[in-house]
Amino acid sequence: MNDLDLTTTKVTGNLAQVKTAIAKAAHAAGRNADDVTLVAVSKTHDADAILPALKAGQLVFGENRVQEAQAKWPALRALYPAIELHLIGPLQSNKVPEAVATFDVIESLDREKLARALATEFTKQGVSRPCYIQVNTGGEDQKAGVTPRATDAFIKLCRDDLGLPVVGLMCIPPVHEEPAPHFALLRKIAARNGLTTLSMGMSGDFESAIALGATHVRIGTAIFGSR
Ligand SMILES: *Cc1c(COP(=O)(O)O)cnc(C)c1O
Repeated sequence: MNDLDLTTTKVTGNLAQVKTAIAKAAHAAGRNADDVTLVAVSKTHDADAILPALKAGQLVFGENRVQEAQAKWPALRALYPAIELHLIGPLQSNKVPEAVATFDVIESLDREKLARALATEFTKQGVSRPCYIQVNTGGEDQKAGVTPRATDAFIKLCRDDLGLPVVGLMCIPPVHEEPAPHFALLRKIAARNGLTTLSMGMSGDFESAIALGATHVRIGTAIFGSR
């Protein structure tokens, strides 16, 4: 087999395995597999790796950089118009116009300046994008996200004052900690704010996230290999 065939075989097989594991985790939690959406995280991987996933029916993808997504996705969208692209990385306010034009869902809303820029841009482009608020559940200094303590007020600001379509919450637990308490905390904050979408769980911990109510799992390495 040539390299391209190898990539195709690998990605197709990994994707099938991940989907089976998601279904298994959902069933183990007494949940419906259809209630967990797989966001395939394709950052750093090129079209050769992404196309096999698209061919296998995967349409929801995550990217963490605006510029990289702008370069990769218009051509893929032309082939698969039903693609749903999620921004899962930090967003600078000055990149908001490009982000709104490139992505269907913004998962990394984490500060007031960005919230205001998004609201302005939605009006300007005459569009709307579902937004998730990123919560820094571990309170890590270097990590993006609203602190758990500030989240209720921030949701209120975004939803009530700015009219943003806030649908849920997203978190990335600290690397060296047991993730389950972070997932449980995210679920608790969402519940008390009437939010039903929970983006949590990556290649190493998605089963635990599903057990704790994840509606979206963001999985890269387990599908596309290491970066
Ligand atoms: C890269 C990334 C992922 C995917 O991580 P894997 O461990 O490769 O599955 C998920 N969420 C965010 C925010 C990421 O940046």
